[in-house]
Amino acid sequence: MEWFEETLHENWRQGIRIKEILYRDQTELQDLMIFESYAWGRVLTLDGVVQTTTGDEFCYHEMIVHVPMLAHGAPRQVLIIGGGDGGCLREALKHEGVERVTQVEIDRSVIDLCRKWLPTISDGAFDHPKARVIIADGARFAAESPERFDVIVVDSTDPIGPGAVLFTEEFYRNVRRLLNPGGILATQCGNPSIKPQELVDTQAAQRAAGFALVDYYLPVVPTYIGGGMALGFATDDPAKRKVGADAIRERGVPKGLRYYTPEVHVAAFAHPAWMIERVGH
Ligand code: SAM
Repeated sequence: MEWFEETLHENWRQGIRIKEILYRDQTELQDLMIFESYAWGRVLTLDGVVQTTTGDEFCYHEMIVHVPMLAHGAPRQVLIIGGGDGGCLREALKHEGVERVTQVEIDRSVIDLCRKWLPTISDGAFDHPKARVIIADGARFAAESPERFDVIVVDSTDPIGPGAVLFTEEFYRNVRRLLNPGGILATQCGNPSIKPQELVDTQAAQRAAGFALVDYYLPVVPTYIGGGMALGFATDDPAKRKVGADAIRERGVPKGLRYYTPEVHVAAFAHPAWMIERVGH
């Protein structure tokens, strides 16, 4: 009986029992493994950390994408940084008003291998006529691009390895420059019950980058252990954070979602008291 053991946290490990290892190799940048599990379908790990599973990926992808998209109301240009499995791309393309979704992923192998071994996650999104994929460092793209976006989603690895630059004040400053007026940034911020400091630091860096409103919301993604996962929400238009469930519904929620509802959107911004103690509002 073989187990995958995630060692992201020094004092808390999670094990997922392996049915079969489907692929394992070193890409140019990361150690990548894809295995069939008993509990969560197929699992992608990078450098020993669970990135996504076919069993619960919808929880994360729906929330990191539809919350900023529906808070915005009419996003046309969307940027995804990271997200090589294609789940964010798939969800962003569900919004009919979107004209183009640009994805900037640093590691081509993640895209190629996920398309081969985890095809249900991108579900054809990489071939969608509105999708544009750029293989590059997201931090560099943010520093140099002349383009502007309505919603930017940073679906990164954790702040170690190639993803570390995506958690810096300089990166958030550059990303803020890429946003159209009323634009929204959503970012992966780790698990605040195990690593509250990661969220504290990310929020501080986003504030220092000049955003008028910096907040976080808490979806539950079972294979990101530790309870509610924190996603950062930053914008220069504070009204975007206050949209109610009825107004969201009128904007047109894509059909067939399994986690996101307008009520879940609003509730995810309610922070339990112990979270406020740990990381603030
Ligand atoms: N949802 C996952 C999580 O929360 O852990 C993240 C999944 S996604 C596969 C993360 C992607 O970010 C990987 O494909 C990785 O190659 C990419 N990535 C890491 N650093 C990057 C950078 N500097 N620029 C662009 N993409 C990056």
